[in-house]
Amino acid sequence: MCGLPLPQGHATLPGEQQEKGKVTVWCVWLERAPVRGTLARAIRPLWPGVTLSRLGRMRMGRPARRDPGLPGGRWVRVRNRQAGISEADLALARGMLQGTAAQAIPQPKRRYLGREVVGRVTEVGPDVSLVEVGDRVVLNGEPLSTCATLGLQPPCRPCATGNPALCQHRAVPWGGTGAGWGDEMIVHESQLFLVPDALTDDQAVLLEPAARAVRAVLQRLPEPGMEVLVIGGNLIGLLLCATLKALAPSTQIVLATDQPHEVAAAGALGLAGIIPARGGVITRRGAALTNAQTFQRGGTTYVLGGFDIIYDCLGTNASLGEAVRLAQSGGMVVIVAAPARAVRLDPSLVQQDEVSIVGVAEAGSEPAPPDAKENQQGRWSSLAVAARLLRKGQIATDSLITQRVPAERLRRALRLARSGATRIVLIYEEMAGS
Ligand SMILES: [Zn+2]
Repeated sequence: MCGLPLPQGHATLPGEQQEKGKVTVWCVWLERAPVRGTLARAIRPLWPGVTLSRLGRMRMGRPARRDPGLPGGRWVRVRNRQAGISEADLALARGMLQGTAAQAIPQPKRRYLGREVVGRVTEVGPDVSLVEVGDRVVLNGEPLSTCATLGLQPPCRPCATGNPALCQHRAVPWGGTGAGWGDEMIVHESQLFLVPDALTDDQAVLLEPAARAVRAVLQRLPEPGMEVLVIGGNLIGLLLCATLKALAPSTQIVLATDQPHEVAAAGALGLAGIIPARGGVITRRGAALTNAQTFQRGGTTYVLGGFDIIYDCLGTNASLGEAVRLAQSGGMVVIVAAPARAVRLDPSLVQQDEVSIVGVAEAGSEPAPPDAKENQQGRWSSLAVAARLLRKGQIATDSLITQRVPAERLRRALRLARSGATRIVLIYEEMAGS
């Protein structure tokens, strides 16, 4: 049986009565149910909320009737404290990701949701060496199989170089249970990052997206005076702006967004400009800001000149097209958001201007940040760089967490996430002594 008592006042699962002393933990997963997924998508134009209803693929409930315990010596049980409603989890829950290569990887029977989470370790296997009971931890990304969780030796090249999110064995079904959406998760110790004591829970729950922002910026650290464009003022876009200000302070940063709450949140970041993200307008305004030349052909505006680096935080056909058109010769486009669909791209823009396009998936291994001391050189985890920026106040979290919702009201939180909040955070009941 599960070793965790039921916290006082904890909500019962939907449609279930609370049973004293029985397994009480719950989690949220996406069920592998292609027929139901197709039906829900067909109904969605008439009923937008169908994918989040019980007719969709998202399920919440007990992970199992009986707690099987930790699946191996290096596995860890974590009681969650806060979890974010990330764009990636939301897109999965809504069944928005279709027709991309990412969908070709075989889907597990249960894909657990909630990659932005801070919790406390409540149980460790006998071979765990990286964390202890009582430690505060975050997930380093979506929990999937890696060489470490599978016990493979030697590890594949991505795992050996500190990038387990790119593991060549991640299509193998994962051995853990639960993630951030739910009050408990069982994960491999290699999937956790120990939260420094100096960080609050609010800061810690943003560590994972902040680490992706760090990874995006360190793909090519802007040189002094370079002009960069961030398309999308969502959480990752705002974190990117703050990370750029911290790691490359003389960069001219322009943000493209149409959302008033994103414009308001970006106000304190000291950006060089904020322009509309609408197709066409972004190209004209972006070209004007960088003194680039523009040309019209077939109803499309093309640009000679533009930004040195562009970060696409929307992942749409339009945003990637604008990003490539607005990239300076020899510039770089960094795809940060998971594209919801396969996009069309004019490859001549990439070839003629020698533009590099790189993607950022999850936290990994990075070069040392530019202000690292001599004895801190070498490779860093993106999460360690992000934790440093949060601890120094260079990434401010006050305006990023816009709403807090009790975790048992998850479906309400998912509905709220459609109305344009920067980040909604689920709050879990605290256990006595946690
Ligand atoms: Zn691997």
